[in-house]
Amino acid sequence: MSEQTPIETKRATCSHCGVCCGVLVDVAGDRPLAIRGDPDHPITKGFICKRGLAAIEYFDHPDRLDRPRKRLGGRGEGRWAELSWDEALDEIAERLRKIVDSNGPEAVAYAAGTFHGPDEQIGNRFLNHLGSPNSAGVWLICGGPQVEAEALTYGWGRSQPDLVPGTTRLVLLWGKHPSASSPPTWGRVLALKRAGAKLVTIDPRRTREAEASDLWLRPRPGSDAALALGFLHVIMSEGLYDREFVEGWTVGFDELAARVKEYPPESVARLTGVPVDDIVKAARMYATNRPAVISSSAPVGMGRNALNWERAMACLIAICGNLDVPGGNLLVGPPPDVLTKVDIDDYPALPPEQRAKRLGVDRFRLHNEGYERLNSAMRRVWSGRQYVLRADVGAAAHAPSLWRAILNEQPYPVRALFVQHNNVLGAYSNTQLAYQALKSPNLELLVVQEQFMTATAQLADYVLPAAGWLEKPFMYIRGLNDWMLANEQVVPARGERRSDYQLWADLALRMGLGGSWPTTLEGLFDMMVSPAGLSFDTLAQRPQNWLSYPKRYRHHEEIEPVGGKQLGFGTPTGKVELRSTILEELGYDPLPAFEEPLTPEFGSPEEYPFLLSTGATVIEMTHQDHRQIPSLRRQHPDPIVEISQEAAATLGIDIGDWIWIETPRGRVRQRAKISEGLHPEVVVAERWWYPERRGEEPELYGIWESNINAYTEDDPELCDPAYGSWPFRLGRCRISKA
Ligand code: SF4
Repeated sequence: MSEQTPIETKRATCSHCGVCCGVLVDVAGDRPLAIRGDPDHPITKGFICKRGLAAIEYFDHPDRLDRPRKRLGGRGEGRWAELSWDEALDEIAERLRKIVDSNGPEAVAYAAGTFHGPDEQIGNRFLNHLGSPNSAGVWLICGGPQVEAEALTYGWGRSQPDLVPGTTRLVLLWGKHPSASSPPTWGRVLALKRAGAKLVTIDPRRTREAEASDLWLRPRPGSDAALALGFLHVIMSEGLYDREFVEGWTVGFDELAARVKEYPPESVARLTGVPVDDIVKAARMYATNRPAVISSSAPVGMGRNALNWERAMACLIAICGNLDVPGGNLLVGPPPDVLTKVDIDDYPALPPEQRAKRLGVDRFRLHNEGYERLNSAMRRVWSGRQYVLRADVGAAAHAPSLWRAILNEQPYPVRALFVQHNNVLGAYSNTQLAYQALKSPNLELLVVQEQFMTATAQLADYVLPAAGWLEKPFMYIRGLNDWMLANEQVVPARGERRSDYQLWADLALRMGLGGSWPTTLEGLFDMMVSPAGLSFDTLAQRPQNWLSYPKRYRHHEEIEPVGGKQLGFGTPTGKVELRSTILEELGYDPLPAFEEPLTPEFGSPEEYPFLLSTGATVIEMTHQDHRQIPSLRRQHPDPIVEISQEAAATLGIDIGDWIWIETPRGRVRQRAKISEGLHPEVVVAERWWYPERRGEEPELYGIWESNINAYTEDDPELCDPAYGSWPFRLGRCRISKA
């Protein structure tokens, strides 16, 4: 860069997490110089967090992957040869063709992880056209149960909190920690509170949200479904629900009322550890301060109660008259005039006989038969659009079943795995098993595309360098599906970094796959906005570089274009299904319930007295990302395990001590943080790895030393019986000073 190189300011969208904040980046030539929040952004209005501020450090980091590499020697030996993209793609395509010819397309699987930009999980399009049903990403332990439960209950998921100052009278944050996971949302919640809304937080930890709340409930991890059923008991028995809505628009009210009789507050207090008075008070507050919003996180505990909890919450929202009303939980539906990621994935291209081969669907039948039934019901109310529920949420392969299929070749061999932005060895439960699968000779081809080397990438046959969000164009539907925003790339991709989409487009051409594969990401975006009569460039270059759609409320009351009847909800009955038709038809319990999640497999309470929660978010890092960034690591240098004051006193543990966290599967070390107000039985541990350590075996960046997920459970018997979520955030453990 010469001294004369002019500095230009470009609009962009931070994609270090799914909040997608609008930012302004000062650029000189091909170098980003400075970054700040964009005050003119329609949603985030100038906000930027410390991860966003570190974006240039991330872009410039000396350890970023810049060239494709190919493994020499054994997996994990750390010997690599660089090659060109063309060479890598030619070799990968040839090996893939042989695998498909010998084993069928179902022998190819895909595991996508953290959001990194608009082409996230775009490999699903490739899989559908190849004929493989085995996309095994992380939705089942992320927002998937909520989306699925809401779709089963009222024909759209996920509902969006409509935070309207002066209208919304109560916000219930359930396991949600927006001050770390979505700071702009936290700002809006605080604004609502200043406008007079009440705030209720349900979390075993005393978070900032808990401290700011009018009422804080501290349930045992894994008992949230029982708590929601207790709320329903109070609200239904005291007649605090919206009678008009219930009579006009729900089915199964009497059956649900009979079910929740099994959950009186006294019993729920025993199950959850929440005092009876607080259960009653919280239920009354939610039911009587309408409109109210529930904003929840991925189910704390997952496992057998994942769908139960989300179904119970969906029933709460509906019977209290908070569904699709101003200031409540909105059903926004797909945008009318553009194609979304769901359309681009092109699920109809996957033949039905291949869908039936999806790993795990023999047990978790929502992921095939359930998805088809949901599609039939939902398309009626959403303008006839096909598969509006994301297939990677509603028709996903079951990752624990994938690792077992690789190892046992049952029900069939899986020979190839593609991984994008997913450090598998930290992301799933029982990652010791995932490790064995990735090392198995049965897996003939492992391709990883990442921005940095990870423990998982160390085991790959090919590692491909990924472009970051500064280096690729952006166009994405965000928020309440009410705006679609576009911006051009900020700087050219450095080295040979490429977008996720480019990998699939180039591979699809080599494999001769069907479907349209524009040669660039901009071309894909053109496809998406062309129904609105736009191109990506025209949208990205406008002063107002987004499409926005007015909020619609009470979609179910709209009149069908043909027939003149009200649309109703996208369920088989057209009503809110408190009793789910689809679950019943598939042979599952159609009503929400609670099952004790901590079965003997997790260890006995005597040997493992603490309840282990994993996966909590911290503001310095997005999931497993950002551990390489010095400015962020200085603020969060080591894995932190939160323990209560009571546990610390009993075990003689001080702040900053290294402690062992031990489950029946093994133990890891993390540094103790003594959390005031944390439930005395609870331990909250992080998934962790050390990019600064040696990447080769056996260290693998310290993944076995401090990653708690190595020693959590994933047995299919312990998963949600219909949806397959595994017990990602829940277990038993004991702790001791290391
Ligand atoms: S990392 Fe921070 S700045 Fe970037 S999108 Fe997420 S919240 Fe916004």
